[in-house]
Amino acid sequence: MGRIRPLWNGFLDLLFPPAPRCFFCQRQLAGQTQFCLDCLHTISHPEGELCRRCGRPWQGPAPCPQCEGKNWTFIQARSVGPYQGELRLAVHRLKFRNQQAGARILAQLMFQSIEASWWPELDGIVPVPLHPERLRQRGYNQAELLAYELSLLSHRPMQLLLERQHPTPAQIGLSQQQRRLNMQGAFRVAPGRQQQLQGKRLLLVDDVLTTGSTLDACARTLRQAGCQEVRAVTVAITNME
Ligand SMILES: [Zn+2]
Ligand SMILES: [Zn+2]
Repeated sequence: MGRIRPLWNGFLDLLFPPAPRCFFCQRQLAGQTQFCLDCLHTISHPEGELCRRCGRPWQGPAPCPQCEGKNWTFIQARSVGPYQGELRLAVHRLKFRNQQAGARILAQLMFQSIEASWWPELDGIVPVPLHPERLRQRGYNQAELLAYELSLLSHRPMQLLLERQHPTPAQIGLSQQQRRLNMQGAFRVAPGRQQQLQGKRLLLVDDVLTTGSTLDACARTLRQAGCQEVRAVTVAITNME
């Protein structure tokens, strides 16, 4: 039976598919959903107002403390929830354990976190690039996996318009100002892609928004090359600083 067992189990799975489990907490689910409502509730931003710029929970027309005084080049950013708990684990799994299925689920949540009014105003989806060296080590760019899934959901083309020019030095322990300087010149428009972004409205995609300096540097590169406006979406956003 030794060799037959896996085949037999596969056959049984076909006949009686195992109950799906929550992507986040692994609890068995009743219906054909991919995550439980409890997890959806705990990973998402609490209901209520968001900062108009960065999408952190924040009330009022003025920008939140993290955006105050910042002249972000991206006009708005949105995220599924804070970078903590199960959402943080999900980002780690996506980043370090090539989880294509994970990208699909996270992209669905990102898709829902974007205001519906954005989509008609977006021409293309641009992942934040990895430096080629990092790409070789990891084998894939997690932002590109997310951007690809978002392009399927939104019927907007994914466009690999940006390149990372040099590996980004470690950002940990740097002030926001230093981080911003660090990112200057980090990106450039990929050769031959300049024409594709003229007058376009683009959506940048990344896994986490920390200080915003990476997305801002990408947005600035795109705008300087002739793109009309840039929005951004990430899986998660940190609450630091
Ligand atoms: Zn769950
Ligand atoms: Zn803000």
